[in-house]
Amino acid sequence: SKAKLFDEKTDTRTSFKDVAGLEGAKEEVEEIVEFLRNPDKYTSLGGKIPKGALLVGPPGTGKTLLAKAVAGEAKVPFFSLSGSDFVEMFVGVGASRVRDLFKQAKDKSPAIIFIDEIDAIGRARGKNNFTGSNDERENTLNQLLTEMDGFGTNTNVIVLAATNRADVLDKALMRAGRFDRQIYVDLPDIRERKEIFEVHLRPIKTLETLDLEFLARQTPGFSGADIANVCNEAALIAARNEKKAVDKQDFLDAVDRIVGGLEKKNKIIT
Ligand code: ATP
Repeated sequence: SKAKLFDEKTDTRTSFKDVAGLEGAKEEVEEIVEFLRNPDKYTSLGGKIPKGALLVGPPGTGKTLLAKAVAGEAKVPFFSLSGSDFVEMFVGVGASRVRDLFKQAKDKSPAIIFIDEIDAIGRARGKNNFTGSNDERENTLNQLLTEMDGFGTNTNVIVLAATNRADVLDKALMRAGRFDRQIYVDLPDIRERKEIFEVHLRPIKTLETLDLEFLARQTPGFSGADIANVCNEAALIAARNEKKAVDKQDFLDAVDRIVGGLEKKNKIIT
């Protein structure tokens, strides 16, 4: 198939304002934005700009969002691919996709490359490889390592990768000059959940009396993606009930529905 494996977008719409909470992670990536904006300033004294950083954390916590915000804030193109796209790929295809991706990013540098689910290609090599079916994954991983090593000090391409399984990654990926920085992106605490509600309620017509503190308290363990879902679901429930604005009960019903969905998901896993 001709499925596009990476998107290039000059995504100036996503900014740090869209990313709620995650203060520590934002502070760390802020530095990357600075590097991309003024590479010469940082290399003028002989320093080397980092080539990559790993965003580590549970699903739906905003890793992709944060990577897009880095590109948006720095006003540089955003090239992305997902590790899972490389599963079951024909021999040679994965490696050549990686080569193409890096070439395009270098041509348009400064730029961000984002690799989601890097564990799908970056699992430790030489394990569970009885059938040889992992060969292409290994080729792809090797190509990725080669590309990162091949960056000159003034390439100005920074590779961000996301995973929720940093423990299974090949140690070679974390070596100096590759993904040598790890940035933790955790589930939001109550204060952060309130901030995430604020972001996702922006486009939604709610009653003015809506208590965000209350909503944050009703959603322990929810990720940012879950909260985005709750807000959307609440708006749909209210509309279905012919309401003019979304109220507390719609949110409670939406929370119930999302909790129901999460429980089902967990049941399948365990
Ligand atoms: P995965 O590991 O499943 O790829 P992820 O960590 O990359 O997940 P995102 O894809 O960035 O998560 O998050 C999905 C959506 O959830 C975002 O597009 C956004 O709408 C919402 N979201 C997640 N975290 C936040 C946050 N901190 N602030 C605002 N919105 C968030």
